[in-house]
Amino acid sequence: MDSKQGRTDNGSNGPRGIIDPSTLVAHDPHDEKHQGAVVMPIYQNSLFTFSTYEEFDQAMAGDDDIPVYSRGHNPTVQQLERRLAALQGGEKARCFASGMAAISTAILSQVRSGDHVLCVDQAYGPTRELLSVFLTQYGVETTFVDGTSIEAFHAAVRSNTRVMYLESPTTQTFRLQDLRACAELARSIGAVTIIDNTWATPCFQNPFEFGIDLVLHSISKYIGGHSDIIGGVLIGSESMLRRINRSEYLLLGGIMTPHSASLTMRGLRTLPLRMEKLEQNGIAVARHLEQLPFVRKVNHPGLPSYPQHELAKRQMRGFSSLFSFETDLPPEEMKAWAGRLTYFRIGVSWGGYESLVTVGRSVPGRGSVQGSIVRLYIGLEHPQVLIEDIEQASQGLGGG
Ligand SMILES: *Cc1c(COP(=O)(O)O)cnc(C)c1O
Repeated sequence: MDSKQGRTDNGSNGPRGIIDPSTLVAHDPHDEKHQGAVVMPIYQNSLFTFSTYEEFDQAMAGDDDIPVYSRGHNPTVQQLERRLAALQGGEKARCFASGMAAISTAILSQVRSGDHVLCVDQAYGPTRELLSVFLTQYGVETTFVDGTSIEAFHAAVRSNTRVMYLESPTTQTFRLQDLRACAELARSIGAVTIIDNTWATPCFQNPFEFGIDLVLHSISKYIGGHSDIIGGVLIGSESMLRRINRSEYLLLGGIMTPHSASLTMRGLRTLPLRMEKLEQNGIAVARHLEQLPFVRKVNHPGLPSYPQHELAKRQMRGFSSLFSFETDLPPEEMKAWAGRLTYFRIGVSWGGYESLVTVGRSVPGRGSVQGSIVRLYIGLEHPQVLIEDIEQASQGLGGG
């Protein structure tokens, strides 16, 4: 066997022994079963057959992750799962039809009727709805806490707290939680920690380093990276993922298709490259916005002015390009401003190549009845073009 074919997923260590993401995404461990195909083929089939009943029985036992039926395992999806586990520094990963499928499966796998969940109060809206509306019907209660304060988590702990659900940074106001402190608290009360790591990506934050148990991402954002896939991934220890696989994963059935897995692997090839560029673009535009007279504050963890900047530097290796700014100007005026932008499209989601804008209502600022919170996603366009676009759209705005 060629020594290159013997490389494992962990064979791409950087100079100091840390996994280097740019090398990892460029080198798949080869598998002689695929004729040396440089890209993993799309296994577009529902079931797998066996030449002997012995082999079939062994596959059905399930412990070796041998594909039997594509709701369980599919080789294309499995390849992506190995790549994502390695990139995030976890033992095992499972991919899902969406980020929400990963989130609901992760939470459902850890709670039973009568249990209590602690959740960050700024978490993704549908996650909050799952906890505050859907799961209360099944006897699971949730307390939402200000994630910037570990004391707030402490104060909300109950004897039946089973899950601490984190999202750091959050994706409207970009607040962080101290991941090490959260993991320590959860461990001391026997609760499981789950984090939505979508904003930071595996490139910029490894929550396992701080003792977090389960890490999930919406693949629909940066990991996919081209605004053409909906998907999710859940990563954790071999034992936790095996338990989830046998139960919630197979029963809820929110699986990723092999075609989406192939597109995701294609996106993954450039993830480290894109993140490097997006970080620079995001910071450049955020710095410019800080100087504009109508901008009250910019919520970007990478800016030195950001209240949690020190914590952000401590637990992240970089900053992605979704952030918001707040202004005293009313949403109607900022919606007109968004409409004047040429290169920012109006729309939800983020993580692709294209810059995006949405406008919401913010808590009133000083001397103002109501202000706006404007969320910007900075894409791969030239940052100077985006800055000039913001300049032209801002002509004649109330504050400037
Ligand atoms: C989009 C998003 C999700 C949900 O992902 P889907 O793939 O849309 O289901 C979860 N968390 C965060 C932070 C998101 O931005």
